[in-house]
Amino acid sequence: MAGAGQHNFSAPSHKGDSGSFSTGSEVEDWKTPDIGGPPPRRAESNLVPRDSVSALATAHNQFLGAGTDPVTGRYDGRDPLAPIGERSRLVPPINDTLALGPLDKIYLIWMVGGSCDGCTVAVTGATHPRVEHLLAGIIPGLPRVELIHTVVSTESGPEWVHNLFMAERGELDAPYVICWEGSIMDESYAGEGYWMGLGEDPQTGRQITSLEWLDRLSPGAAAVVAVGTCAAWGGIPSAKGNVTNSMGCMEYLGLEYRSAFGVPVVNVPGCSPIGDNILETAAAVLLFLNGLAPLPEFDELGRPAWLFGETVHRHCPRAGYYEEGVFAESYGDKECLVELGCWGPVVQCNIAERGNVDGHGGCMNVGGICIGCTMPGFPDKFSPFFETPPGSLLSSNTARVTGGMMRRMRNISRIDKNMSTRWDRDAPSGWRRSRTGPRGAVKTIHKFYGKYQHSHESYNSRRPRG
Ligand code: SF4
Repeated sequence: MAGAGQHNFSAPSHKGDSGSFSTGSEVEDWKTPDIGGPPPRRAESNLVPRDSVSALATAHNQFLGAGTDPVTGRYDGRDPLAPIGERSRLVPPINDTLALGPLDKIYLIWMVGGSCDGCTVAVTGATHPRVEHLLAGIIPGLPRVELIHTVVSTESGPEWVHNLFMAERGELDAPYVICWEGSIMDESYAGEGYWMGLGEDPQTGRQITSLEWLDRLSPGAAAVVAVGTCAAWGGIPSAKGNVTNSMGCMEYLGLEYRSAFGVPVVNVPGCSPIGDNILETAAAVLLFLNGLAPLPEFDELGRPAWLFGETVHRHCPRAGYYEEGVFAESYGDKECLVELGCWGPVVQCNIAERGNVDGHGGCMNVGGICIGCTMPGFPDKFSPFFETPPGSLLSSNTARVTGGMMRRMRNISRIDKNMSTRWDRDAPSGWRRSRTGPRGAVKTIHKFYGKYQHSHESYNSRRPRG
């Protein structure tokens, strides 16, 4: 049974050979139950004979010219489709002023569990910094990033998985960071199948799962970054029912987990997260790994404190309406959305001030409510969505009373401040449709307010100076 976000590399790469892309029926054809290996969480029905794998891999390599030496089994790093771990050795180090730290480069291994790939889409939209800038190594102080990604890497199939074997064997020529996207689905619940396939053992043809790679690679990783709410807390796959026993990385790796550099799991939640949040956090961690900055501040749940320390509400462009007790009645209204179901007052997220991509978009900025997608309690504790949160009626009705009073007082003040001191009764504007100057009680209030406003000036002028 295949879970969401499953990446099945059990057949040779799809690159350049449409006929060799894996399908369920092909896997079924290759079924040979007597092939061994001690595979935990491995389904017999997915066993692939070693001969089939190596024959197809060889054919694939010949087709692509991937440059695998049939005698030594080594890849030619000059081949653009060879594993990046091999190709990267041939890239000369940066010998200019950008290389400030001890690390010239770092490998970023992006692995996927139960995911919709939305976090991958989000990170490619990052602008501060951009993925391209990290890959090119042009940000001063940051090592060049060699990306090993389930979607955007140039190599695929066995060449892609070879990178993970290199990481495990310590053959990469630089440290590696793991970015994990998607929920961790419990493979012991998968019965005869698996949820998250990610390559296979070239010797036995045994299907390897993403989870097994996390087990194998996390102890040696410089850092593990859980990208997105599914990876951080479990997210939607862990919602009520949770047949896959889904959970977040931090929970799976456990309280005691520390990376090889002594860092607990870093969480960048969001469904999907803001791309800039992902890469800014990665950049901050890389600066630390490069010895050029202290470990950035993380809160008690491993979130970057400078990104998730405030509630959405505090920076929402509609917060002023809330304060004055004015609320939207339907979508498209410009006022505060709390009575339409917005959870912004309690949710820790910076979407309102940062926007979604390059400062643009972002839930409340474009008329949407906050459904709490960055929070560990998401989605169950924020559902049913699009209904008024029960607690918000108390606060919104209180705001109606106190905010309503303040709004009226501010209105009185605004009428006066819209009048120049040169104007007696009304503004001399051809645009005006009615009286603009204060009248009656409002005028009297301002007369006394004006005296009070300047009263301290005469007091200060009488005070001895020096
Ligand atoms: Fe707060 Fe939501 Fe209203 Fe914005 S729309 S002011 S986040 S309650």
